Amino acid sequence: MHLTDIISDKTNYYLALEEKYGAHNYHPLPVVLQKGKGVYVWDINEKKYYDFLSGYSAVNQGHCHPRIIDALVNQAQKLTLTSRAFYNNLLGEYEAYITAYFGYNKVLPMNTGVEAVETALKLCRRWGYAVKGIQENKAKVIVCAGNFHGRTTSVISFSTDPSSTKQFGPFTPGFSVIPYNDIAALEEALSDKNIAGFLVEPIQGEAGVEVPQEAYLAKAKALCKKNDVLFIADEIQTGLCRTGKILCCDHENVRPDILILGKALSGGTLPVSAVLADDEIMLTIRPGEHGSTYGGNPLASAVAIESLKVLKDEGMAENAERMGALLRKELQKIDSPYISIIRGKGLLNAIVIKHNDENAAWKLCLELMKNGLLAKPTHGDKIRFAPPLIITEEQVLECAGIIEKSLRVLD
Ligand code: PLP
Repeated sequence: MHLTDIISDKTNYYLALEEKYGAHNYHPLPVVLQKGKGVYVWDINEKKYYDFLSGYSAVNQGHCHPRIIDALVNQAQKLTLTSRAFYNNLLGEYEAYITAYFGYNKVLPMNTGVEAVETALKLCRRWGYAVKGIQENKAKVIVCAGNFHGRTTSVISFSTDPSSTKQFGPFTPGFSVIPYNDIAALEEALSDKNIAGFLVEPIQGEAGVEVPQEAYLAKAKALCKKNDVLFIADEIQTGLCRTGKILCCDHENVRPDILILGKALSGGTLPVSAVLADDEIMLTIRPGEHGSTYGGNPLASAVAIESLKVLKDEGMAENAERMGALLRKELQKIDSPYISIIRGKGLLNAIVIKHNDENAAWKLCLELMKNGLLAKPTHGDKIRFAPPLIITEEQVLECAGIIEKSLRVLD
């Protein structure tokens, strides 16, 4: 199959525009979307697709959820941004709502996910000096190999993926990398008295949905507590019902000391992220020491409240749990030599493709696209299956059929 067979002239027009005028920092599938509703998106030729990426889990509530869009439109007509130089009548309401929702004393609102990660790291370092008593400029944070926490200079400083780091140095010091899912390695790393925090993804999403062994998070949290180190959970991708619980840490009854959220906090409408912690940690940052022009704006506050309400009102955690189990069961039934691993939790899933053609996962995604399902390979041979959390049983079965049929392209 040649790309030209599946790309219309109209599509080519938009591809060429981006190629000519946009930076080449992404490699998208050749589909140009113009509309979304629920689990579906439509391209410029009116072809309909299941969205199995959900904006990298930003669209958990489904595309253009009516309640979220109403909240967005209503607030956009009243007041969108005041900056934090003044109070607005929604930020406090949002802060009260989200802290009660997750059970923390305080929230620090930001915009993109990586900004919230940066914020959590600064907060952790500050706590390390102000509360734990680490000597100035000596604080370290433990992170895991295979991590993905975003793209800023400090955050890529502890990436182990060469495509994130090559020719982007010099890097920010103060991070120790240990293997993921390795409690012994964590225990050893924690013996360093300058460790202030352990930053971890409860499931490594970008790495290809790496699910750690059972009780990994609970054991890690207990070790952090024993060593007076903050357990920082990056739930930007795993949180907000994606894995079948409101937080992925809930599967092990773990309460992070610092919780990082983003993506679906706005149901895919605008960048809204948040860092949650208790007073002992959060109040170490004082006025003028950290901030963001857009962080905590009234538009984001109104949208975030509604996005969180919708998740609970529509039982999205429960649906993700049930539909995820069904999807994995249906994938297991597929008799294909090209699937070597099926893994995931809730509706955060991946398959690993085994084939002697190193472009097999990409080819499969093109075929899935042709057959009406959008998914994207990560790290070459892995394909993430993460539809909006409102997907129904009938839709899951139809999608499993599309995947089975599409796999034949690899014969
Ligand atoms: N952390 C995790 C676990 C993520 O999956 C991502 C994005 O995929 C980020 C951080 C960065 O979020 P953003 O792209 O909004 O900066």
